[in-house]
Amino acid sequence: MLVVMQSDATPDQVARVIAAIREIDLTPHSLPGPTRTAIAITGNTGAVDPQVFEALSGVKECIRVTKPYKLASREMHKYDTVIGLNPPVAHAPGSPAVEIGPGTFTVVAGPCSVENEAMVFKSAEFLLSKGVKLLRAGAFKPRTSPYAFQGMGVEGLAILKRVREKTGIGIVTELMDTEYAAAVEEAADIIQIGTRNMQNFALLKRVGKCRKPVLLKRGMSATLEEWLMAAEYVLAGGNYQVILCERGVRTFADHSRNTLDLSVIPPVKALSHLPVFVDPSHGTGKRAYVPAMALAGLAAGADGLLIETHPDPDRAMSDGAQSLDFPATEKLLGQLRQLAAVLGRGM
Ligand code: PEP
Ligand code: MN
Repeated sequence: MLVVMQSDATPDQVARVIAAIREIDLTPHSLPGPTRTAIAITGNTGAVDPQVFEALSGVKECIRVTKPYKLASREMHKYDTVIGLNPPVAHAPGSPAVEIGPGTFTVVAGPCSVENEAMVFKSAEFLLSKGVKLLRAGAFKPRTSPYAFQGMGVEGLAILKRVREKTGIGIVTELMDTEYAAAVEEAADIIQIGTRNMQNFALLKRVGKCRKPVLLKRGMSATLEEWLMAAEYVLAGGNYQVILCERGVRTFADHSRNTLDLSVIPPVKALSHLPVFVDPSHGTGKRAYVPAMALAGLAAGADGLLIETHPDPDRAMSDGAQSLDFPATEKLLGQLRQLAAVLGRGM
């Protein structure tokens, strides 16, 4: 349920509602909006009696939320979520802050895996020179084969931290296991949860306790509702900074690695206030198809992109076939900027 406060409700009245929710052992989530504050209630298994709250001063109305996902829904949270990031580059003179959300288009690029310090550093320098402020690279890699490169692990995180310090770029990196949650949270500006872990509930609950934004990839066979329910786990834990990421789903199609489901973007935007990214690299699996689908993602209404870029894709230790080289990345960034301008999006 959502308790909507009157526009002139005082902080004391809001506090009283929050206390009343706690008194019946439920969880309040304060959602300040541009015109009024609303307080979401979660933790109830049955219906909550609205009269308890409607009688309190400063309360305008109580709205029942019909969707199974509550905090992730637009019913509960009308306005688009904006996620502010604070990588060192955001402090550079003249550099605009990094903000993910409406009116903007955020590009996150970089290699699939951290392979060594030199290549991560080179990637960061290249990306920053092209105006990209967030670098992706996995230190922990979820690989189908146990014999494939598994990532550099904690050593990879140390490399990411040093590159962040030296260059100022923000870091997006994957967490696969609750054991490393604190270490990944320390190294990352955004914690990535991969497609294979979208329903790893222990992991979702753990990142719900983190204070860094979470990029939640859609499970490769997850419905939209399952994806939003996964986001709900993170939000219910108290971490309201979730970015959804469509990365392709399994279908009968065998012309590409996955089928990038761009048709999920408009319904996600209608049903949820969370920002949505598109990952055309894993979505297609082939670098030749990445630029077209990246542009299509922007046109479909995504708030950002996650793309794999490598200084020497043919020698990459993972996902080289779908990684762009630097010239192709630069060309794509130019095209994205042109399209973003037409669509009135800042990039
Ligand atoms: C990745 O981003 O490199 C990755 C492993 O992605 P996904 O979880 O979508 O397969
Ligand atoms: Mn990859």
